Amino acid sequence: MIYLDHAATTPVDPRVMEAMLPYWTEKYGNASSIYALGREARRAVEKARQTVADILHAQPEEIIFTSCGTESDNMAIRGVAWASRDKGNHIITSSIEHHAVGHTCAQMAREFGYEITYLPVDRYGVVDPADVAAAITERTILISIMYANNEVGTIEPLAEIGAVARRHGIPFHTDAVQAGGSLDLDVDRLGVDLLSLSAHKLYGPKGVGVLYVRRGTPLLPIVTGGSQEQGRRAGTENVPYIVGMATALRLAQEEMATTNQRLAALRDRLIAGVLASVPHAALTGHPTHRLANNASFVFDYIEGEAILLQLDLQGIAASSGSACTTGEPEPSHVLTALGIPPARAHGALRLSLGKDNTRDDVDRVLAVLPGIVEKLQAMSPLCPR
Ligand code: PLP
Repeated sequence: MIYLDHAATTPVDPRVMEAMLPYWTEKYGNASSIYALGREARRAVEKARQTVADILHAQPEEIIFTSCGTESDNMAIRGVAWASRDKGNHIITSSIEHHAVGHTCAQMAREFGYEITYLPVDRYGVVDPADVAAAITERTILISIMYANNEVGTIEPLAEIGAVARRHGIPFHTDAVQAGGSLDLDVDRLGVDLLSLSAHKLYGPKGVGVLYVRRGTPLLPIVTGGSQEQGRRAGTENVPYIVGMATALRLAQEEMATTNQRLAALRDRLIAGVLASVPHAALTGHPTHRLANNASFVFDYIEGEAILLQLDLQGIAASSGSACTTGEPEPSHVLTALGIPPARAHGALRLSLGKDNTRDDVDRVLAVLPGIVEKLQAMSPLCPR
């Protein structure tokens, strides 16, 4: 099988697995217990916290371990909104966020009367920092703009948006779930106050994430109970997964430069090959300012799902966009926000590379994809012959 869906999830790196293993059957203590076994678990959690903090150029007490990227996003939005209810009820976000942010904001509006501004993006999926500045009101309590888009790979100008947020004294959250394995995470350079990460996008386990919260940022817990994570996220610490999260992030960041260089070359070969050989094809997302592993396209006159099935028959695993939206009849909200007409947005294909992919994998896709697309297009009465 050729796996080209690393934006959906990644395999666990064997080095990560090895680091996690002892914490199931040998070092299985509860990190809150005071005897030696518990203290050992506590040490592992705090070491992991320090590792993550160092990578983010943050303090360990600013790192909260969560159950996934979705929970981190929920905690950032609800946590800040609840804590800021005396200040205002207006949240600024973009029209291309992952549903973990978008649907959370929508619920805040629908059920609790919050006002949400969904900023437009340009045809490449870039948010204009000037639009952020123009949307700010006296009631604005949070700005949430993703670091890199999960469907089209576009990287957002976080530092510029961060400078706007700082000037107005408004907390700035970024969903960095797709960026964690391949982009700089220095929270001061990025100018962010909250940042979400997820382990399974960077060769760690599914079901563990991080929320960075800058000291002084208003935040109420959304999961209440025990006093874990300094009372900000209750629940017995998932020690093996927390160790896995930190190990995966450390390895990804250490190996980032070489991995990015290799994957960007494969990505560019894929993009150039597809655009040259597939009829009625267009690249989606920014031509250069995009994740090193993301090659995403739209093809006219076909359904993305049909391509996926045909690729699957050839042993190639890919996606039409976000795994979280599979089965939704509507075309992707990201592609329509880029100005792509709905009919065209239905023919989306996302190929997301990973560190085990080779040039042979890319060439195999380039060998089979044009034929698949042409065959499907030939079935459409709309396709010009
Ligand atoms: N945000 C983005 C940009 C994502 O791509 C994903 C993953 O699909 C998430 C959030 C959710 O992360 P998790 O799967 O850990 O809940």
